[in-house]
Amino acid sequence: MRKILVAANWKMNTTPTTAKNLIKAIIKEHDGGNYHDILICPPFTSLGVVSKNIENKDIALGAQNHSQYDNGAYTGEISASMLKDIGCKYVLIGHSERRVLMRESNDVISEKFTTAIARDLIPILCVGETIEEKERGETKAIIQNQIDIAMKSYDVGKKARFLIAYEPIWAIGTGLTATPNDAQDIHNHIRSRLKIISKELAENTQILYGGSVNKDNADALFSMPDIDGGLIGGASLESSGFMAIARQKNK
Ligand code: PEP
Repeated sequence: MRKILVAANWKMNTTPTTAKNLIKAIIKEHDGGNYHDILICPPFTSLGVVSKNIENKDIALGAQNHSQYDNGAYTGEISASMLKDIGCKYVLIGHSERRVLMRESNDVISEKFTTAIARDLIPILCVGETIEEKERGETKAIIQNQIDIAMKSYDVGKKARFLIAYEPIWAIGTGLTATPNDAQDIHNHIRSRLKIISKELAENTQILYGGSVNKDNADALFSMPDIDGGLIGGASLESSGFMAIARQKNK
C-alpha cells in the first residue's frame, strides 16, 4: 500500500533565520495532528537549521539538487554525500526550473539520478511537459523519454527506492493545475511504463503531482488512485496553508 507524501519545495526562498521560523511553525502544527508523510526541501544553506529542528520528529529532509560528481574540483557544487551527512533522505532531481533555467539535460539528470541512488539518497525524479508540448499532444512521449533516459542505468535487481513527480511546466507557479482526471491519466501512464521494468516497482513507486497544488485542490488530486501525494512550491512557504494540504482529512 503506497502512502501519501506531501513534499515542500522551498526553492530559492528562506534564509537560515526565516527557515528556522517556518520549520518551527510547521512542527507546532504537526505535533499532535494527523498528517500525511511530510518532506521539507529547503535551499542548501537552510538544510542545517531544518535538519536540527526536525531531529526526533516524523518529518523528512530533502535537498533540491546535487552534483552528478562525488567530490573534488567542482567549485560551487554540492555532493550527494554532503547531503546525506547533513541529514537528507531525499533529493529532487530534474526539476523543470533546473532543466529549463540551468539547462540540465536528460543525460545530466540521469547521472544525478544514478549518483543519488549510489549515495543512498532517494531521488524524486521530476518530469513534465511545456504548454506547447501539451498542445501538440506530446505529453506522454515527452515524459516517457525523460523517465527512460533518467533510469537508463537503474538496476532493478537492487530494488533502490525512488519517486517520480509529474509536474506539468505550464502548471508550476502559474495557478493553473491539471484536473484530477488529467493528472491521473498521466500518472497511470507513468505507472504502466514502470510496469514494463517490474510489476513490483510499478506497484511500490510513489508518483507525486506538482503544479499549483493548494489547500483547495489537494484532496481531489490525492484521492486519485495513482496520485500518491504532491510536490508543493509556492503554497509550502506559509505554514498553515502547507499543513492544510498535508492534513489527513478522513481520519
Ligand atoms: C514546484 O516548484 O515543484 C511546484 C510545483 O511549484 P508550485 O507549487 O508553486 O506550482
